[in-house]
Parts: sequence; C-alpha cells; structure tokens
Amino acid sequence: MIVETRGIVLQESPIREKDKRLLIYTKDFGKIVCFAKNVRKRNVAVASVLSYSDLRLFQNRDSYQLIEGTVLKSFEHVKEDIFSLSYAMYLLEFISYVGKEELENKKLLKLLIYGINAIEKNKINLDVIKSVFDLKLLQILGFEPDLSACIHCGSNERVYFSAIDGGSICSMCKHSKDMVSIDEGSLAVMEHILRLDIEGLFSFDLKEGVRQKFTDIIDIYVKVHIDYKFKTLEFLKSI
Ligand SMILES: [Zn+2]
Repeated sequence: MIVETRGIVLQESPIREKDKRLLIYTKDFGKIVCFAKNVRKRNVAVASVLSYSDLRLFQNRDSYQLIEGTVLKSFEHVKEDIFSLSYAMYLLEFISYVGKEELENKKLLKLLIYGINAIEKNKINLDVIKSVFDLKLLQILGFEPDLSACIHCGSNERVYFSAIDGGSICSMCKHSKDMVSIDEGSLAVMEHILRLDIEGLFSFDLKEGVRQKFTDIIDIYVKVHIDYKFKTLEFLKSI
C-alpha cells in the first residue's frame, strides 16, 4: 500500500553500496524503519539524517520503502558546526529512544522540528535549547514536575527540588534523598516552559548564572526519568 506522510530522518545506515536503512520519525506513523534503494541516483537529500520531508512510501508488513520525497528543510547551518550538529543529534537520539513505532505523536515531531530550527537559527545558547527541549519532552511524556508548592506539605516555600519525587520542596520537608537547592530564577524558567506551547518555547535565552543552575537541574531530571546513556552526550563531553 502506498502512503503519504511527513517526517525527519533520525538515523541512516548504508546497506551494501547503494541502499540505506533509515529510521524516520513521521507525523502519521511515529517512528518507522524505512529502506531507501539506489540512493545515489535518487532521493539523496531525502535519505539523509536531519532531512525533514514530505514522503511517499510503500508500506510493507513491518517496514517501509521510500518511493520519493520532497525536502522541506535540510538544516544546512546545523551541519556547518560540530557543536550545533552534536546538539541536534542529541535531540534526534532522544526522539529515537522515546518515540514508539507505529504510534503517532505529533507533539514529539513538532518539538523536535522546533528544537532543531532553534539550533539552525543560532540565536540561543545550545545548552538552553537542550534543556528547554528536555523539560518539554518530559512533560509531553507525562513527567511534569509539580512546582506549585512543596510537594510534601503544600507550603509556599520552594527552596529544594527533587527529581525523584518530581517537584519542589520546602526547608521543613527534607525527606527526599536527591534534593538539590533551587532558586527563584530556575523555578520561574521551568514554570514558563511548562506553560508555553511548543511554538513559543525557543524564544528566550538565559544569562550565565541562571542558565547553569537551570540546565544542571534539568540534566538531573532527565537522568532520573530516562534510563538511557546518550551517545551524543558522551561525544559532547569528549570534544
Ligand atoms: Zn514542605
């Protein structure tokens, strides 16, 4: 059966000389495995990592075959810089890990495209883009932290954050083992991100002081909820 959808290539691997196996995150079918034949002759741009395209596919029982596509965005500026590319690859890796096969989630695709677009525009600090993406993704996946009050007693004082318990904690309730101190700036940024639609997410940058604290907290939050070692983060640490 021939189907039409839109999607972004998360991974590509060559098969023999002419063909490729692609992992694509699509608007209508979630994550799919798609084979592209004779890619040197046709579909060169479509069958490349980061290419976001309108796609015409042949649907087999457990995979797809690329017939043709029209590239909507190829994010060329992202590819010009090793850091930009590495952060973009991190977003792709995260979606590869949490995206489900044959289960569409249009929010995941939208968040991914907006995130890569923010990297492409090169106006916001890359760590900020990563952490904004992380927090919104965790919210979409159902791990929204509760920051409205102390999660144990309801007090308005919010001076600690527990990733395991999933929220803010007051100075009287120090039960959580993994508590880290949190400041008003980081709390405000997190609340802002949780309230924003995906369209408005990548519209602000953060000064260094707030940025460090905020990105550290989000890193811990991801580690607690996502049991996966990101290859792209290992690579980023090494360069
Ligand atoms: Zn409390």
